[in-house]
Parts: sequence; structure tokens; C-alpha cells
Amino acid sequence: MLDIKLKLKPGHTGERAWMEPSPLRTLFWNVTYACNYGCPICFTDGGSAHPDELTTGEALEAVQKAAEAGVGDILISGGEPFQRKDLLEILACMAKFGITARIASNGSLLTDEILSRLRRETLTKSFQISLDTINPVAFAEFHRVPIGALHQVLEALRLIKGHGFHTTVSVRMTPLTLPEIPRILDLAEREEWSTVTIHCPLHTRRISESFQQDEDVLSLLGPALEMFCANRERWLIETYIPWAEYHPVIRRLEKSIRIIHRGCRAGRDRLTINPTGWLSPCVCMDVPEAYVGNIRTDNLTDVFQNSPTCDIFRNPEKYGICESCPNLMRCGGGCRAAAFALCGRLDGQDESCPIWKRKDTQRASMLRMAGERL
Ligand code: SF4
Ligand code: SF4
Repeated sequence: MLDIKLKLKPGHTGERAWMEPSPLRTLFWNVTYACNYGCPICFTDGGSAHPDELTTGEALEAVQKAAEAGVGDILISGGEPFQRKDLLEILACMAKFGITARIASNGSLLTDEILSRLRRETLTKSFQISLDTINPVAFAEFHRVPIGALHQVLEALRLIKGHGFHTTVSVRMTPLTLPEIPRILDLAEREEWSTVTIHCPLHTRRISESFQQDEDVLSLLGPALEMFCANRERWLIETYIPWAEYHPVIRRLEKSIRIIHRGCRAGRDRLTINPTGWLSPCVCMDVPEAYVGNIRTDNLTDVFQNSPTCDIFRNPEKYGICESCPNLMRCGGGCRAAAFALCGRLDGQDESCPIWKRKDTQRASMLRMAGERL
């Protein structure tokens, strides 16, 4: 995802060369499409479960395959993962194989009883809870849920924090939610959440109410990011946008806060499993064009190492992506999901990159001048 993590408290972090060759370490696993919310910008078109979702037996087998492939960390999401009645069984299987689970959820189905069990059996250490607005009416309209749902989620967040889990709230950036971000940051401070993650829009799935794919989202986010940095006690910003370190807003913020650029690790050390078992490099690309195999039938290591699609993510220079950009070996050739949304090709150009846009302008003016000389 095109994320920016605003970290309010010191915690685990480590800088490492994310472009270097790596074995498969992490899976993003959307365990179901079923969801009790109806968000217009869902990353996976959540709503109803697909009739062909992995059975409990297949899901447990998938965990075993992940362990055999050396995966140490799985981010569980959906739809709403707690819509799966066997979720705790799947998490227990992961714990048995020594795989760490992180859970992304809308928080609405979390109870004290579930959280107690998760804590007692060490089935997860961290939660990422969606919180796009803290206006109760806007929340109900946005997620298509009854008024009162926001209160329920805020209570769930208090329970999560009370049980000692690492607590992240995630905001999907849209014209509606953008003005809310400063208020969410204030609340994060009061409630002592660890991290606020902002998901920038990607036009890969249902995202009708969001910005254009090539919108300059970092400029739009600038005031909220500056507000975050104005408090000297704020700890760190992590960016997961490949070209973020070249953006003027981020360059300016680097003067006041430590910023770590983590780039895109899709296909580099991670894969995604969708609810029906299809594997793709990027969690935002649940589309047949990005499928590289199926967990039901394929060997994870083999798929990760040998898929031509993963090769595009790992070695963009072989495919002419970002040709002649001096940043290519630091940036990794931009976001493949954005390129796919903009050009319809996985090996296309991420035209939302500010450096590429500048080159485009230069190219256009050179062509114009050449035209004038003819
Ligand atoms: S291709 Fe990479 S940067 Fe783009 S959405 Fe996927 S994980 Fe994020
Ligand atoms: S042009 Fe490509 S390699 Fe260069 S900064 Fe932009 S996305 Fe990265």
C-alpha cells in the first residue's frame, strides 16, 4: 500500500536495505471478502464472502505451507477478518508454527472475551484498526453502518490498548477524510495509540469517492504532516511510497523529524493471499493480471522465486521502467499498482511520481521547442 506511518511513540524499527535480494518473509492474507461494513473505498471489494473461499482445512494447510517457506510474519486482513468463525483456529495454527500475526480489522466485532484469549494465548501482538473519521454521522454514512458504530470502534480501541496490544489506527485518505486527519492525530495523542497510518488512494479496486491516481497526495497531506511534526515529542515517520523521499513536502519535513523510507517490498520479501487462495505480489492488486499462483496448488517458495510477475517488481530496470532516472536503484521504479491503474500494465510507468512528472514536463517542452524550430 502507499502508506505513511506517523509514529507517536518510540518502538521497534530498523533500517534495512529493502531493495536487496531477500527470501520470502511476510504474507498479507485477506482471509475473507465478508464484511459487515460497506466502505466505498475498500481495498478488496469487501461485502459478501466468496463461495470459493479457503475452507478451514485449506487455511490451516496454507499456514503450514507458509511456515515451510520460511514466512515469519503474516498480516491478517479481509473484508473483516473476524467474520471468519475459524479465525482464532487459524491464528492458533500460526502460533504453533512460530509465525507472528498482525491483524487489520474494522474493530466492530472485537470483544473483551476475544481480546483476552488473543492475549492469553499470544495469538497476535498488534492491531491495525480502520478509523477514517471521528465524526459519528460521517462515520455511519461513510461505512454504511448505524449511528453508534463509531462509539463501538472507539471502545474496541480502548480494550485493545487495555490488553497491551500495539495499537495502530489507519485512515484511508479521501476528500472526505483528509480534513479529519489532524483531529485523529489529536485523539491518537489523548488515547495513547502508537501509530496513525495514512493510506494514500490507489485505483485498483473500489475507490469511487477518492482522488485521481496521479493526484499529488503528499502536497495535499502537507498541512497534516506539518501539524504532526510541530510537536517535538513525535518520534518518527515511515514512508512506504517508493518515491516519497524525492517529494518536496517530505524533504521539508526531514528538517524537523527523523523519516525512514521503506519503499515497496511487494514481490521483494512478501506476497499476498486473497480469500480464494490466489497469490499476488501486492495487497492492492487482487486482479487476475497480478496473480502468480494459488496457495491451494502451488509451492510458495517456487512462486516467489520464479514468477515473471514478481520479477517485474524486483527488477524494474529489466523492463525499461523509469529508464534513465538516476533514482531507480533507490526508489525501485515506483508503485506497480499505481502504474497498473494509470497505464493498465504491470510493467508500465508510475506516472504519479513527482520526478517522472517533472521529466514529462521537460520532455513536453523539448518537443514543443523542436516543433517550433521545424
Ligand atoms: S506496488 Fe508496492 S508501493 Fe504500490 S501499492 Fe503495492 S505494495 Fe504499495
Ligand atoms: S522516475 Fe521512477 S525511479 Fe525515478 S523516482 Fe520516479 S518512480 Fe522512482
